[in-house]
Amino acid sequence: MYTPFLMCGYAAALVLMLVGFRGVRRSTPNLQGSRQLNWFILCGLFGVLLIGLRPWTPALVSIVLSNFLLFAGALFLYLAAVDILETKSHLFPWPSGILIVALPLLVWFTYGNDQVLARLVIHATVLAAIFITTAVLLFRKHADPETRQPARACAWLLILATCLQGAWCLFEFRANPDGTTNFIHPDLMNVGFSYLSMVLGLAIVIGLLWLALTAHRLDLHKMAQTDSLTGLLNRRAFEEILRRELLRLDFGGGQMGIALIDLDYFKQVNDSLGHFAGDDVLRRIALVLRDGTRPSDVLARYGGEEFVVLLRNAGLDESLSAAERIRRHIADLSGLPGSVSLTASIGVAVSQAGDTVTDFLLRADEALYRSKREGRNQVSVYRENEDEYEAFPSALTPQG
Ligand code: GH3
Ligand code: MG
Ligand code: MG
Repeated sequence: MYTPFLMCGYAAALVLMLVGFRGVRRSTPNLQGSRQLNWFILCGLFGVLLIGLRPWTPALVSIVLSNFLLFAGALFLYLAAVDILETKSHLFPWPSGILIVALPLLVWFTYGNDQVLARLVIHATVLAAIFITTAVLLFRKHADPETRQPARACAWLLILATCLQGAWCLFEFRANPDGTTNFIHPDLMNVGFSYLSMVLGLAIVIGLLWLALTAHRLDLHKMAQTDSLTGLLNRRAFEEILRRELLRLDFGGGQMGIALIDLDYFKQVNDSLGHFAGDDVLRRIALVLRDGTRPSDVLARYGGEEFVVLLRNAGLDESLSAAERIRRHIADLSGLPGSVSLTASIGVAVSQAGDTVTDFLLRADEALYRSKREGRNQVSVYRENEDEYEAFPSALTPQG
C-alpha cells in the first residue's frame, strides 16, 4: 500500500469536483456557501497533494503545511454552513482557537519530538472540534422545514467523520502504542481509515451543496411570491392560494370572503409628497392590514395601491365586519408622512359554489367600484342584481 497513490486518487476526485462546482457556480452565481466550499476543495486538494509528496519533500511541507491546509479546509466547511444558513459565526472562535493552539504543537511533534501518534491525535482533535461545531450549527439553525433534511444529513455526516477520527486514534493506540505507524506504507486498516475520511469529506461537500441549493430554491420561491415594497404576498401568490381555497371549499363546503381595498386619491399623495413618501404610506398600510386581520386571513398587495384580504371561514356578515374594521383602521391612521389623512374604498364578495378565481375577484372588484362611485371611504358588498348592491351601513356616516 502506498500513500501517494491513495492521495492522488483523492486529488483526482477533488479536481473533478472542482470542475463540477465551477458549473454549479456559473449557473447559480449567487449560491450561498459556494465560495467557501470551493475553498474547502482547494485546501483539501493541495493538502492531500502535499501529503502525497511526503517521500520527496521536507516534513514542514508534507506534514505541517499539509495538515494546516486540511484544517483550513475544514474551517471553510464551517464558514460555508454559516453562509448558507445566513447566521452569525459566533462559534468561530472555538475551532479557530483550537487550530491556533494545534499548529505549534504539530511543529513540536514533528521537529522537537517526532511522534506520529501525537500528530494523529492533534489532527483528529482539530477536525473533530470543527466538525462538531459545524454539526451543532446545522442541527440548530434551519429556518425552513425544507432545509431541515439536508442540514441534518450534513450534521450526521460530520458526526460520523468525527467518530471516524476518534476510532482511528484509538485503533492506532492499540495497534501501534510505540508510534511505529508508517503513513507512507500504511497497513490495510490505515488505508481504510484514510479512504473513509476522504469519502466522508466528499459526501459532506455534496450534502452542503444540496443544502445550499435547497435554501436558494426556497429564496427564489419566496421572492417570486412576495411584494418587495410591503413584504406582503403578491398578486400571483394570492391568486394561487385563492384557487386552492376555492377547490377546498368545493370539496369540504363552507364559505369565505374577500375584501378588495383601494386607497382613495392616492395619486395626490405621490403628487404632493413624492413617490418615496408614497411608498412609506403603502408600507404603513400593509402594517395596518397585518394588525387588523386574523392570522388565518391571507393578505396581499394586489396592485399599485390596491390590497386584498382573503377572509377564511367568513360568511357575508363576518366579511363585511372585517372590511369595515379595516376601513376604519385606515381612516384613523395618524403619523403618516406629511400628516396626510387617507381613506380606502373596499369591495367585498363572498364565495359561491363553483366559483373560479376570476369570477370571485370580479365580484369584489365590481363592489369596490360601487364604493368609489358612491363617494369613496366605504365598504360595498356584491349582490347578484344591480339593485341589490349594498353599502355597509356605517359607510353612510363615514369617518376620517
Ligand atoms: P382613486 O380614489 O380613484 O383610486 O384615485 P387614486 O389616485 O388612488 O387612483 P389612480 O389609479 O389614479 O392612482 C393610483 C396611484 O397609485 C398612481 C400611482 O402613482 C400610485 N402608485 C401605484 N403604485 C405605487 C407604488 O408602488 N408606490 C407609490 N408611491 N405609488 C404608487
Ligand atoms: Mg387603484
Ligand atoms: Mg386608488
